Amino acid sequence: MKIIQASSEIITATPDLEQVIELAGRVCWKSEDKICDGSAEKLIKFLKGKNHASVMEHGVITVKIVCDRGVSHELVRHRIASFSQESTRYVNYSKDKQGGGITVIQPCFWGEGTAMFHEWKRACQQAEETYLAMLDNGAGPQEARSVLPNSLKTEIFVTANVREWQHIFELRCAPAAHPSMREIMIPLQEKFAKYWPSIFGDHLDA
Ligand SMILES: Cc1cc2nc3c(=O)[nH]c(=O)nc-3n(C[C@H](O)[C@H](O)[C@H](O)COP(=O)(O)OP(=O)(O)OC[C@H]3O[C@@H](n4cnc5c(N)ncnc54)[C@H](O)[C@@H]3O)c2cc1C
Repeated sequence: MKIIQASSEIITATPDLEQVIELAGRVCWKSEDKICDGSAEKLIKFLKGKNHASVMEHGVITVKIVCDRGVSHELVRHRIASFSQESTRYVNYSKDKQGGGITVIQPCFWGEGTAMFHEWKRACQQAEETYLAMLDNGAGPQEARSVLPNSLKTEIFVTANVREWQHIFELRCAPAAHPSMREIMIPLQEKFAKYWPSIFGDHLDA
Protein backbone atom coordinates (compact mmCIF):
# COMPACT_ATOMS: atom_id res chain seq x y z
CA MET A 1 0.00 0.00 0.00
CA LYS A 2 1.28 3.40 -0.98
CA ILE A 3 0.51 6.58 0.96
CA ILE A 4 0.67 9.86 -0.97
CA GLN A 5 -0.31 13.52 -0.49
CA ALA A 6 -3.28 15.17 -2.21
CA SER A 7 -2.38 17.53 -5.07
CA SER A 8 -3.76 19.62 -7.90
CA GLU A 9 -2.53 20.81 -11.28
CA ILE A 10 -3.96 23.26 -13.79
CA ILE A 11 -4.12 21.38 -17.11
CA THR A 12 -5.45 24.01 -19.49
CA ALA A 13 -7.50 27.19 -19.67
CA THR A 14 -9.04 29.54 -22.21
CA PRO A 15 -6.02 31.37 -23.69
CA ASP A 16 -5.81 35.04 -22.62
CA LEU A 17 -8.59 34.37 -20.15
CA GLU A 18 -8.81 37.88 -18.68
CA GLN A 19 -8.72 39.48 -22.14
CA VAL A 20 -11.48 37.19 -23.42
CA ILE A 21 -13.69 38.15 -20.48
CA GLU A 22 -12.93 41.82 -21.05
CA LEU A 23 -13.78 41.53 -24.74
CA ALA A 24 -17.06 39.74 -23.96
CA GLY A 25 -17.95 42.35 -21.33
CA ARG A 26 -17.13 45.31 -23.57
CA VAL A 27 -19.53 44.05 -26.24
CA CYS A 28 -22.36 45.01 -23.87
CA TRP A 29 -21.34 48.69 -23.93
CA LYS A 30 -19.55 48.62 -27.31
CA SER A 31 -16.48 49.95 -25.53
CA GLU A 32 -13.89 47.76 -27.28
CA ASP A 33 -12.05 50.97 -28.25
CA LYS A 34 -11.08 51.33 -24.55
CA ILE A 35 -8.98 48.15 -24.59
CA CYS A 36 -5.40 48.93 -23.59
CA ASP A 37 -2.75 47.70 -21.15
CA GLY A 38 -4.42 47.15 -17.77
CA SER A 39 -7.97 47.70 -19.07
CA ALA A 40 -8.99 44.05 -18.55
CA GLU A 41 -8.28 44.32 -14.83
CA LYS A 42 -10.44 47.47 -14.53
CA LEU A 43 -13.31 46.04 -16.55
CA ILE A 44 -13.33 42.78 -14.56
CA LYS A 45 -13.43 44.76 -11.30
CA PHE A 46 -16.34 46.78 -12.67
CA LEU A 47 -18.22 43.64 -13.75
CA LYS A 48 -17.74 42.11 -10.29
CA GLY A 49 -19.04 45.28 -8.65
CA LYS A 50 -22.19 45.14 -10.79
CA ASN A 51 -22.55 41.39 -10.19
CA HIS A 52 -22.51 40.99 -13.99
CA ALA A 53 -21.41 37.42 -13.29
CA SER A 54 -22.50 35.70 -16.52
CA VAL A 55 -19.62 37.37 -18.42
CA MET A 56 -17.27 35.19 -16.34
CA GLU A 57 -18.74 32.13 -18.00
CA HIS A 58 -16.76 32.81 -21.21
CA GLY A 59 -13.57 31.47 -19.66
CA VAL A 60 -13.05 27.78 -18.90
CA ILE A 61 -10.36 26.10 -16.78
CA THR A 62 -9.47 22.40 -16.51
CA VAL A 63 -7.73 21.02 -13.45
CA LYS A 64 -6.48 17.57 -12.45
CA ILE A 65 -6.99 16.80 -8.78
CA VAL A 66 -5.48 13.85 -6.89
CA CYS A 67 -7.51 13.35 -3.73
CA ASP A 68 -9.35 10.73 -1.71
CA ARG A 69 -12.77 9.37 -2.64
CA GLY A 70 -14.43 11.38 0.13
CA VAL A 71 -13.26 14.66 -1.39
CA SER A 72 -14.09 13.59 -4.94
CA HIS A 73 -17.60 12.64 -3.83
CA GLU A 74 -18.09 16.21 -2.59
CA LEU A 75 -16.56 17.72 -5.73
CA VAL A 76 -18.91 15.97 -8.12
CA ARG A 77 -21.88 17.62 -6.40
CA HIS A 78 -21.02 20.76 -8.39
CA ARG A 79 -23.47 20.56 -11.24
CA ILE A 80 -22.09 23.17 -13.62
CA ALA A 81 -18.84 21.32 -14.18
CA SER A 82 -17.59 18.30 -16.16
CA PHE A 83 -15.77 15.42 -14.52
CA SER A 84 -13.70 12.43 -15.64
CA GLN A 85 -12.66 10.19 -12.78
CA GLU A 86 -10.54 7.10 -12.24
CA SER A 87 -12.93 4.16 -12.03
CA THR A 88 -12.86 1.58 -9.25
CA ARG A 89 -14.97 -0.60 -11.55
CA TYR A 90 -12.40 -0.74 -14.34
CA VAL A 91 -9.08 -0.28 -12.54
CA ASN A 92 -7.71 -3.42 -10.90
CA TYR A 93 -5.35 -2.33 -8.12
CA SER A 94 -3.75 -5.78 -7.85
CA LYS A 95 -2.03 -5.32 -11.24
CA ASP A 96 1.69 -4.50 -11.43
CA LYS A 97 0.76 -1.38 -13.44
CA GLN A 98 -1.06 -0.11 -10.34
CA GLY A 99 1.82 -1.06 -8.02
CA GLY A 100 0.19 -4.36 -6.97
CA GLY A 101 -1.93 -2.72 -4.29
CA ILE A 102 -3.95 0.34 -3.39
CA THR A 103 -2.76 3.92 -2.99
CA VAL A 104 -4.30 6.05 -0.25
CA ILE A 105 -4.23 9.77 0.50
CA GLN A 106 -2.62 10.74 3.79
CA PRO A 107 -5.18 12.60 5.93
CA CYS A 108 -3.89 16.12 6.56
CA PHE A 109 -5.36 16.13 10.09
CA TRP A 110 -3.40 13.19 11.58
CA GLY A 111 0.36 13.50 11.88
CA GLU A 112 2.56 10.47 11.25
CA GLY A 113 3.44 8.75 14.50
CA THR A 114 0.13 9.62 16.21
CA ALA A 115 -2.22 6.91 17.49
CA MET A 116 -4.94 8.03 15.07
CA PHE A 117 -2.58 7.81 12.10
CA HIS A 118 -1.56 4.32 13.17
CA GLU A 119 -5.22 3.19 13.42
CA TRP A 120 -6.04 4.75 10.04
CA LYS A 121 -3.07 3.05 8.35
CA ARG A 122 -3.94 -0.32 9.88
CA ALA A 123 -7.56 -0.07 8.67
CA CYS A 124 -6.43 0.82 5.13
CA GLN A 125 -3.97 -2.08 5.09
CA GLN A 126 -6.70 -4.48 6.25
CA ALA A 127 -9.00 -3.20 3.51
CA GLU A 128 -6.26 -3.71 0.92
CA GLU A 129 -5.61 -7.24 2.16
CA THR A 130 -9.30 -8.14 1.87
CA TYR A 131 -9.61 -6.48 -1.56
CA LEU A 132 -6.64 -8.48 -2.91
CA ALA A 133 -7.94 -11.73 -1.35
CA MET A 134 -11.33 -11.20 -3.00
CA LEU A 135 -9.68 -10.70 -6.41
CA ASP A 136 -7.60 -13.86 -5.83
CA ASN A 137 -10.82 -15.72 -5.11
CA GLY A 138 -12.41 -14.69 -8.41
CA ALA A 139 -14.15 -11.39 -7.63
CA GLY A 140 -13.98 -8.62 -10.22
CA PRO A 141 -12.64 -5.14 -9.31
CA GLN A 142 -16.18 -3.73 -9.34
CA GLU A 143 -17.20 -6.25 -6.69
CA ALA A 144 -14.04 -6.18 -4.56
CA ARG A 145 -14.16 -2.38 -4.45
CA SER A 146 -16.93 -2.66 -1.85
CA VAL A 147 -14.29 -2.90 0.88
CA LEU A 148 -12.03 -0.07 -0.31
CA PRO A 149 -11.64 2.87 2.10
CA ASN A 150 -12.76 6.48 1.66
CA SER A 151 -9.06 7.34 1.72
CA LEU A 152 -8.47 5.54 -1.59
CA LYS A 153 -6.56 7.77 -4.01
CA THR A 154 -8.53 8.95 -7.03
CA GLU A 155 -7.63 11.17 -9.97
CA ILE A 156 -10.26 13.48 -11.33
CA PHE A 157 -10.32 16.01 -14.17
CA VAL A 158 -12.59 18.97 -13.44
CA THR A 159 -13.57 21.44 -16.15
CA ALA A 160 -15.67 24.44 -15.21
CA ASN A 161 -16.18 28.02 -16.27
CA VAL A 162 -14.76 30.90 -14.25
CA ARG A 163 -18.05 31.70 -12.54
CA GLU A 164 -18.39 28.13 -11.31
CA TRP A 165 -14.77 28.04 -10.11
CA GLN A 166 -15.44 31.22 -8.12
CA HIS A 167 -18.44 29.49 -6.56
CA ILE A 168 -16.44 26.31 -5.85
CA PHE A 169 -13.68 28.31 -4.11
CA GLU A 170 -16.22 30.27 -2.08
CA LEU A 171 -17.71 27.06 -0.70
CA ARG A 172 -14.68 24.79 -0.60
CA CYS A 173 -12.06 27.16 0.86
CA ALA A 174 -14.38 28.31 3.67
CA PRO A 175 -13.75 27.19 7.26
CA ALA A 176 -16.89 25.01 7.11
CA ALA A 177 -15.45 22.89 4.27
CA HIS A 178 -13.78 19.55 5.05
CA PRO A 179 -10.06 19.93 5.96
CA SER A 180 -9.05 17.58 3.13
CA MET A 181 -11.07 19.67 0.68
CA ARG A 182 -9.48 22.90 1.95
CA GLU A 183 -6.05 21.28 1.73
CA ILE A 184 -6.59 21.07 -2.04
CA MET A 185 -8.74 24.10 -2.75
CA ILE A 186 -6.80 26.80 -0.88
CA PRO A 187 -3.51 26.18 -2.79
CA LEU A 188 -5.49 25.76 -6.03
CA GLN A 189 -7.14 29.13 -5.50
CA GLU A 190 -3.64 30.59 -4.95
CA LYS A 191 -2.51 29.12 -8.29
CA PHE A 192 -5.56 30.61 -10.03
CA ALA A 193 -4.86 33.98 -8.37
CA LYS A 194 -1.27 33.88 -9.63
CA TYR A 195 -2.34 33.29 -13.24
CA TRP A 196 -5.51 35.41 -13.27
CA PRO A 197 -5.23 37.93 -10.40
CA SER A 198 -8.07 40.21 -11.51
CA ILE A 199 -10.49 37.29 -11.46
CA PHE A 200 -9.32 35.11 -8.57
CA GLY A 201 -7.18 37.46 -6.46
CA ASP A 202 -9.92 39.15 -4.38
CA HIS A 203 -9.27 37.03 -1.29
CA LEU A 204 -5.67 38.34 -1.24
CA ASP A 205 -6.99 41.91 -0.59
CA ALA A 206 -9.29 40.79 2.23
C1 LIG B 1 -19.69 22.84 4.03
C2 LIG B 1 -20.61 22.02 3.17
C3 LIG B 1 -21.36 21.02 3.73
C4 LIG B 1 -22.23 20.25 2.95
N1 LIG B 1 -22.95 19.25 3.52
C5 LIG B 1 -23.77 18.49 2.78
C6 LIG B 1 -24.56 17.43 3.36
O1 LIG B 1 -24.47 17.18 4.54
N2 LIG B 1 -25.36 16.70 2.55
C7 LIG B 1 -25.48 16.98 1.21
O2 LIG B 1 -26.23 16.29 0.52
N3 LIG B 1 -24.75 17.95 0.63
C8 LIG B 1 -23.90 18.71 1.35
N4 LIG B 1 -23.17 19.70 0.76
C9 LIG B 1 -23.27 19.88 -0.70
C10 LIG B 1 -24.16 21.09 -1.08
O3 LIG B 1 -25.49 20.90 -0.64
C11 LIG B 1 -24.15 21.32 -2.60
O4 LIG B 1 -24.71 20.20 -3.25
C12 LIG B 1 -22.76 21.53 -3.15
O5 LIG B 1 -22.02 22.38 -2.33
C13 LIG B 1 -22.87 22.15 -4.55
O6 LIG B 1 -23.17 23.52 -4.40
P1 LIG B 1 -24.28 24.30 -5.21
O7 LIG B 1 -25.52 23.51 -5.31
O8 LIG B 1 -24.38 25.69 -4.64
O9 LIG B 1 -23.55 24.56 -6.54
P2 LIG B 1 -23.38 23.95 -8.02
O10 LIG B 1 -24.02 22.63 -8.21
O11 LIG B 1 -21.93 24.07 -8.20
O12 LIG B 1 -24.16 25.01 -8.85
C14 LIG B 1 -23.73 26.37 -8.90
C15 LIG B 1 -24.91 27.28 -8.73
O13 LIG B 1 -25.78 27.13 -9.86
C16 LIG B 1 -27.11 27.25 -9.45
N5 LIG B 1 -27.81 26.00 -9.72
C17 LIG B 1 -27.26 24.81 -10.08
N6 LIG B 1 -28.20 23.90 -10.25
C18 LIG B 1 -29.37 24.50 -10.02
C19 LIG B 1 -30.73 24.08 -10.02
N7 LIG B 1 -31.09 22.83 -10.32
N8 LIG B 1 -31.69 24.99 -9.72
C20 LIG B 1 -31.39 26.27 -9.41
N9 LIG B 1 -30.12 26.75 -9.36
C21 LIG B 1 -29.13 25.87 -9.67
C22 LIG B 1 -27.12 27.61 -7.96
O14 LIG B 1 -27.09 29.01 -7.83
C23 LIG B 1 -25.79 27.03 -7.51
O15 LIG B 1 -25.28 27.62 -6.33
C24 LIG B 1 -22.32 20.48 1.53
C25 LIG B 1 -21.55 21.51 0.98
C26 LIG B 1 -20.69 22.27 1.77
C27 LIG B 1 -19.86 23.36 1.11
